[in-house]
Amino acid sequence: MREGSLEAPTRHPLDWKSEAFRDPAKVEKELERVFDICHGCRRCVSLCTTFPTLFDLVDASPTLEVDGVKKEDYAKVVDQCYLCDLCYMTKCPYVPPHPWNVDFPHVMLRAKALKFEKGIKFRDRLLSSTDAMGKLAAIPVVAQTVNAVNQNGVARKVLETTLGVHKDRELPPYAPHKFRSHAVESPPFPVRDGKDTPGKVAIFATCYMNYNEPQLGHDLLAVLSHNEIPYVVVDKEACCGMPKLELGDLRGVDLLKQRNIPVLARHARDGYAILAPVPSCALMFKQELPLMYPDDADVLAVRDAMFDPFEYLVLRKKEKLLKSDFKQPLGKVAYHIPCHARVQNMGQKTREMLESVPGTQVTVVERCSGHDGTWGVKSEYFDNSMKIGRPVFRMMAEPQPDYVSSDCPIAARHIMQGMADDAGKAVKAHPLTLLRKAYGL
Ligand code: SF4
Ligand code: SF4
Repeated sequence: MREGSLEAPTRHPLDWKSEAFRDPAKVEKELERVFDICHGCRRCVSLCTTFPTLFDLVDASPTLEVDGVKKEDYAKVVDQCYLCDLCYMTKCPYVPPHPWNVDFPHVMLRAKALKFEKGIKFRDRLLSSTDAMGKLAAIPVVAQTVNAVNQNGVARKVLETTLGVHKDRELPPYAPHKFRSHAVESPPFPVRDGKDTPGKVAIFATCYMNYNEPQLGHDLLAVLSHNEIPYVVVDKEACCGMPKLELGDLRGVDLLKQRNIPVLARHARDGYAILAPVPSCALMFKQELPLMYPDDADVLAVRDAMFDPFEYLVLRKKEKLLKSDFKQPLGKVAYHIPCHARVQNMGQKTREMLESVPGTQVTVVERCSGHDGTWGVKSEYFDNSMKIGRPVFRMMAEPQPDYVSSDCPIAARHIMQGMADDAGKAVKAHPLTLLRKAYGL
């Protein structure tokens, strides 16, 4: 038996439709098996609060082993996991093809699916319905009201008591206009395919960009237009399903998949590169859905056409199909790589692109910020979320940057909140915004 992760991990598909997947006795047995291996290893202790919770339970048990931990306490471990996949992708030497076959995030997901079927809080249903909430908030008067409530201390206390949304969490405002309804149409540029990049782009807008930070989308369109890359914005788009996956709501993921995949697969087959500017959404199509539907040709076509925006732009640059007529230096950029970008295994493409702008120094922080989509918003996890992020807040502040940037706009917001006064004069700016600025657009 060989330890070590020199080979690429073989991720087994998620057998989520089988009876065994949600058989409580089988899930419990698998949790105990994996917990026991983790207790003997303890390598992941610093990644998140899931592992310390497990190890504290073991160390306080009468046997000092996993068999001494009460089964009902397993849920305490599961609740701390926000499925970032880092333990699987970056730490664990026992992932398949190793015979111990440890897939910690997947056993967490099984336990979450079981919990979901027993019933979850209204708050969790609401927070995972990003699309429905966004549609509602897209009505201007509703957006104003929601934004005003989010800024009001008394209202936030009420929100915490009634819904369990932590009063101190800075929430993103809803934009007055959706990205999709204000996206400028692409000029009719000719399609120039590269060796590894299709020469036309379809944009999966994502709930966050569509409803909360449409400016990111407009920045992306400006960069594409400057580089004469024709684009379309995908219509009939629904949420990618990541917030539902993180809750264990696999049937909810399935419903969203049925809405998104036929439209996206059509674009993939028509020769478009599909760009999703939020890493969690890109990961959903690149990894999570293919693991849930390994034999679905449409899902696999979408996977193969899906790019992180900077992954696409750096490839275009290598193909000499991207302009480098930068007009403005960016100065000092503290750049955070979110977990869901790291586990896409594409390398540090955003850093590469930003560093190619003359007069730009990029400090890279490659560590979990601790927010995760909706996890760090919830009252019971807010403190842990800030605790996990603390080293990131410190490292981002250290170079006294001009800009604080992350591919994940939710992580960037969380990092700015954590940096507080240490942020100094630094401005939060998404890498796409920085690239647009560098081009002088
Ligand atoms: S998937 Fe992420 S949050 Fe979950 S146990 Fe692994 S490192 Fe921790
Ligand atoms: S997930 Fe793997 S590396 Fe992490 S503690 Fe468990 S066995 Fe060790």
